[in-house]
Amino acid sequence: MNNWSKLGYYFFPQLTWRREVTRKQVFLTFDDGPHPDITPWVMDALAQVGAKATFFIVGENAQRHFELIAQLTDAGHHVANHTFKHLKGWRTSTKKYVADIADCEDYIKSNTLFRPPYGQIKYSQIRSIQSKYEIIMWDILSRDYLPNLNVRRALRRIKKATRPGSIVVFHDSVKAEKNVKSLLPAYLLFLKEEGYTMSVL
Ligand SMILES: [Zn+2]
Repeated sequence: MNNWSKLGYYFFPQLTWRREVTRKQVFLTFDDGPHPDITPWVMDALAQVGAKATFFIVGENAQRHFELIAQLTDAGHHVANHTFKHLKGWRTSTKKYVADIADCEDYIKSNTLFRPPYGQIKYSQIRSIQSKYEIIMWDILSRDYLPNLNVRRALRRIKKATRPGSIVVFHDSVKAEKNVKSLLPAYLLFLKEEGYTMSVL
């Protein structure tokens, strides 16, 4: 676990940081899409190893590229809520935050998983949505959004942290494009060789 998820687990035990599983199963997640080039690229990489994943979409991106939502669902992936405008929870009133989550709901059908952008969420926001949503955090952050990421070291780190039930964060976004394109195929190969199943949450 990285530092934030370790700390977060103690302060926010009501959020989901890992899943209890009985077999070698991991949960890959992709935040901030859909994007017209990167999301199909990710879907293709996943398809090559028979992996399914959960996509935490930003409503305003889904509005622009709504055809990708159907493609994700048709391919067996889950489409889940990441707010409409990618809001920072700590800087946003609970009323506005909850309304923004509701605005994203038009694109996610009946899915009840939510991930707060930047991992930021206030207790009052948790209380307002937890009867409706399971709030999904992570135990492994690829840090694919960092412009100067050392991909080789990042790959080593995420491989080492992987265990049954892990929830791993990637991004299908412009900011992460270069890193996710080098990290993901190698990581998927590793998971397959290790006998993991990559499932939707
Ligand atoms: Zn995000």
